[in-house]
Amino acid sequence: MAGVYISYPFCAQKCTYCNFASGVSPAALQDRYTASVIAGLRAAKWQWTPETVYLGGGTPSLMDPRLFLDEIPGRPWREATIEAAPGTIRFEKAAAWRAAGINRVSLGVQSFVRSELARTGRKHTAETVAGDVAILRRAGIESINIDLIAGLPGQTRESWTESLDWIERIGAPHASVYMLEVDEDSRLGREILARGSRYGAGDVPDDDAIAEFYEMAVERLARAGLRRYEISNFAREGYQSAHNLKYWRREPYLGFGADAHSFDGE
Ligand code: SF4
Repeated sequence: MAGVYISYPFCAQKCTYCNFASGVSPAALQDRYTASVIAGLRAAKWQWTPETVYLGGGTPSLMDPRLFLDEIPGRPWREATIEAAPGTIRFEKAAAWRAAGINRVSLGVQSFVRSELARTGRKHTAETVAGDVAILRRAGIESINIDLIAGLPGQTRESWTESLDWIERIGAPHASVYMLEVDEDSRLGREILARGSRYGAGDVPDDDAIAEFYEMAVERLARAGLRRYEISNFAREGYQSAHNLKYWRREPYLGFGADAHSFDGE
């Protein structure tokens, strides 16, 4: 069955480690972009009815996703996900998402450790995330993902364990664990490649330590009931992402917006 991916590449800040096509832009550009994506959705030839929708980015929780969702056939979708920045979710917003068909939220947490977050440019704390999860549940959204990054500056076995413990503490049914990518497309990556020290570049754990963190995640998350079901994704039974699995199963999807692509299944 087919899916839809829409990118909203705007953010409140540009995180030091981020190598996505995303960033801070004037409101007028965001409005023009949104209008352009809506035009693309209206012009799309739907050869199938989508069963999954994924709003990624960027930070799509900064805009009203109904503007996009209202243009997509197939509601109620089996799974409709929105990526959200911790600390930006109010009950009214979450309830409106739920009413619009969104039944899954992916929180860009990256770390639950204050000192690690401070160096990335993220403004939330572990308590912020716990509060967001409570709001989402109250609004009827149980399927919640937490993104974590292994390899942030200053990360240690102890601090990584603290982040993994928080997954169990808040009862998240899904976690994505990504290893830090070092390349020219992020400020932190450029600094590491130049052997500089800004953004904590000198304190990034070495490759062996990051590999060990990943293996720790596999073991710790399994104890919390989240089994690895593909390279970076872990879930309780019944909470695997149907949309993400399409990419592995080579099922078709239509992509809209910056940095998005489509796949016809062939
Ligand atoms: S990590 Fe997420 S919030 Fe930060 S700049 Fe990248 S897309 Fe935006």
